[in-house]
Amino acid sequence: MDAGCPLGNKIPEWNALVYQGRWKDALYRLLETNNFPEFTGRVCPAPCEGSCVLGINEPPVTIKTMEVSIIDKVCPSLPSFAPPLHMLDYSAP
Ligand code: SF4
Repeated sequence: MDAGCPLGNKIPEWNALVYQGRWKDALYRLLETNNFPEFTGRVCPAPCEGSCVLGINEPPVTIKTMEVSIIDKVCPSLPSFAPPLHMLDYSAP
């Protein structure tokens, strides 16, 4: 389990997918634990960022901003927002 997020969001996994430019995969990974990332990415107080070890001596990873960026970037290309996971095409790049 990834500590820091009360929802158990797989933060390192979707951050790595974004780093690789795999935004759709990042969204699918995000939706595995969070049905409302468009909401949490904007209003959550982001305790995850307080748990980021980078924050010991530098600003932490901007996890909350990454979360909402995934939604903002990918959702216009989806047929409808947050479809049930079984309806998503996991073969998409
Ligand atoms: S900003 Fe997102 S990843 Fe961070 S604690 Fe809130 S819901 Fe979890």
